Amino acid sequence: MRAVLVGPPGAGKGTQAQILAEELSIPKVSTGDIFRANVSGGTELGKKAKEFMDRGDLVPDEVTNAMVKDRLAQSDAVEGFLLDGFPRNVPQAETLRTILADLDTSLDVVLELKVDEEEVVRRLSGRRSCPECGRVYHVEYDAPKEPGKCDNEGAELYQREDDREETIRHRLEVYREQTAPLVEFYTGEGLLATISATGPVAEVTARAKAAIDEKKRSAA
Ligand code: ADP
Ligand code: AMP
Repeated sequence: MRAVLVGPPGAGKGTQAQILAEELSIPKVSTGDIFRANVSGGTELGKKAKEFMDRGDLVPDEVTNAMVKDRLAQSDAVEGFLLDGFPRNVPQAETLRTILADLDTSLDVVLELKVDEEEVVRRLSGRRSCPECGRVYHVEYDAPKEPGKCDNEGAELYQREDDREETIRHRLEVYREQTAPLVEFYTGEGLLATISATGPVAEVTARAKAAIDEKKRSAA
């Protein structure tokens, strides 16, 4: 299964990607996670990405595309992957098509997670992340067993720099202007499946699985 999750920041892409990747036994490839790991590791890539991320802007395509090309060529992604946060504009989607064509393959499905903006702001304002395993929580909707600590390894959870209200509003604008056109792009490619991303996490997962299965059946 080669799948992409599309939706505004806070739609629950990372949350769903983690669950689905485990169930489907394929890697979750999150460009945001890779960038954040590079920023905290102080790498050249991290230095290039940081200022854009802090503002809530997209990291330039040449940096992002090269990183994704390398990642998808790794052996664990050969049989499939779940992309979270990439592509984020039409030129990235065109590059992805070329990267996959060079590997003699193509996407199976693009899953759009739909949720309204006020809910997104509520979700992002309460988001907390684990610096060790990347697991994402919400202080209210998906709280860890012990407040402020990851259920997996007990690490101290942190709030992302870009999850402040002002940056959230800017990221939503970037989504509307640059990323939302992917819905039309992938509809044209016959790959889009849209689900509602509101309601409990498990219900969204069930909808996602049903939409992926339906897409597989109709492609068979
Ligand atoms: P994205 O990767 O799309 O930016 P995340 O998966 O990081 O979104 O989720 C954003 C926030 O919303 C997190 O705090 C997460 O715990 C919470 N969240 C995810 N799915 C749901 C849901 N179905 N209902 C309520 N909160 C959710
Ligand atoms: P995310 O974790 O998906 O919310 O992404 C966090 C930030 O990383 C974004 O606001 C961008 O600055 C950067 N980023 C992640 N994915 C991409 C991408 N595909 N293209 C450009 N920038 C990206």
